[in-house]
Amino acid sequence: MKIYRVNMTEGKVTTEDVKEDYAALGGRGLTSQIIADEVKPNCNPIGAKNKLVIAPGLLSGTNAPSSGRLSVGTKSPLTGGIKESNAGGTAAQKLAKLGVKAIVVEGKPKDGKFYTMMVNKNGVKLEDSSADLLGKGNYEVMEKMQKELGEDVSVMSIGQAGEYKLQSASIAVSDPEGRPTRHCGRGGTGAVMGSKGLKTIVIDDTDAPGVSIVDKDAFKKSARALAKALLDHPVCGEGLPEYGTSILINILNESGGLPTQNFRRGRFEGADEISGETIAEVINERGGNTTHACHPGCVMRCSQIYNDKDGNYLTGGFEYETIWGFGANSEVDDIDAIAKMDRICDDVGVDTIEMATTIGVAMEAGVIEFGDAEGAIDLLKEIGKGTPIGRIIGNGTGFTAKAFGVTRVPVVKNQGIPAYDPRAVKGVGVTYATSTMGADHTAGYAVTSNILDIGGTVDPLDKEGQIDLSRDLQIATAAVDSTGLCVFAAFAILDNDEALPAVVDMLNAQYGLELEVGDVTELGKSILKVERDFNTRAGFDNTDDRLPDFFVEEECSPYDVKFDITDKELDEVYDF
Ligand code: SF4
Repeated sequence: MKIYRVNMTEGKVTTEDVKEDYAALGGRGLTSQIIADEVKPNCNPIGAKNKLVIAPGLLSGTNAPSSGRLSVGTKSPLTGGIKESNAGGTAAQKLAKLGVKAIVVEGKPKDGKFYTMMVNKNGVKLEDSSADLLGKGNYEVMEKMQKELGEDVSVMSIGQAGEYKLQSASIAVSDPEGRPTRHCGRGGTGAVMGSKGLKTIVIDDTDAPGVSIVDKDAFKKSARALAKALLDHPVCGEGLPEYGTSILINILNESGGLPTQNFRRGRFEGADEISGETIAEVINERGGNTTHACHPGCVMRCSQIYNDKDGNYLTGGFEYETIWGFGANSEVDDIDAIAKMDRICDDVGVDTIEMATTIGVAMEAGVIEFGDAEGAIDLLKEIGKGTPIGRIIGNGTGFTAKAFGVTRVPVVKNQGIPAYDPRAVKGVGVTYATSTMGADHTAGYAVTSNILDIGGTVDPLDKEGQIDLSRDLQIATAAVDSTGLCVFAAFAILDNDEALPAVVDMLNAQYGLELEVGDVTELGKSILKVERDFNTRAGFDNTDDRLPDFFVEEECSPYDVKFDITDKELDEVYDF
């Protein structure tokens, strides 16, 4: 495998062998290590000294089930700390098949132009795309690229938000239909890509050598064992394929952890209208698809295709967090309006979670009223136009709060808090506070044991056991994010004793290693240490590992709970 280094200042591409230290790393493990090794922690995130690292997971490009996840690493413009943003879509598998361990993008063009990066079996080259693509949204860009270069290419692109270098800008990754429904959403990776003068990356794996596997029979056997564990699991094999992630709306509403009206309470009166069950009915009536894979080979297929009232495609990859944010948190119970907001975010290229908390803050400020779906749609449209209000919104929750003098700001390390109220789901509250990524549910998804009874049960309303739960999950997730497996595979890994050994056996069979299950935990710990060290050097300390005061001071109904985990207890997360 090789690492491509693309210097945008010189317009030069070099090919490097993989250093011995990097050989056993992939995905998040590799992106975070390269960023820690090569980026000055105090650099300007959208300046020439920051870098953008793109890496498929260790198992990506193989037949391992649900293993096509892509990691993008950088210093985040939103948090100022290290960032790994993870997406599905078709890019990771194609990169791995081309033998690409990572692409490191550095510098910034002297001519201020935007480029397309072409990646194929012959290597990497840059083409000026300013005239053709500048100012266009992701839907148009991807359609154009595929028309010109073939339907089978994978496209990564930024919308207008990335061109404007807004802090919530995402990088879109094409799904199997060539649509921009999968995103490296969190932390403003799209702004870094924009600052590098990259509008698109096109990956063509025609005649790619493919991934070499040392022991093919052993690999096949373990891949089958993992697929069985996933399909046998009630959430991975039934809940996710049938309803997608929005099945969680009713579950969280019942648990009193569905943040409503900018995190004022934990239950939304209109939850039924936006629930996974309702959405599945609407999708089926209109000829959409409730069971869609974001990349070939995913057996959980949680992604969805949502059509409008006339049966025409409207959006895809319509996730629980998006529906919660533009729904309950904004007090909107119109699912078609929420789907339109998702579509706009995918097109202009912004993180839907960050936009959801931003719209909540804009409503708090009185820019529009809570419940005003059309007002929210109009605000999101302003981002693509680059108007002053659009740029304020596109810079995220913390920025918008400052612009309008709002003090009820649901962020940690300046990143918007996702769809689980930390007072009613305390384990995930610990993750929000302490993750190296800023508020990020996927970094240690304690909803598992707090709400879903996966991997045991820890009372979500009680502080007991939450620190250990979050710590263990954050360590495990850092390792899973390095394999290229979808984080949802962790549900089966937590419940089925055969799943994790199957993952380790696949890694051994592919790379000829002799890893043991305990090595996975060690990998996760070392990744977190590398990331935390970067953040420390960037100026963060333990006082940044805290939730906003209102979670500690105000009760969340209906269970009237506060976030009562102390600062001292939060500091114990990194005792390992
Ligand atoms: S489970 Fe869903 S998000 Fe995960 S890889 Fe499959 S389709 Fe993508």
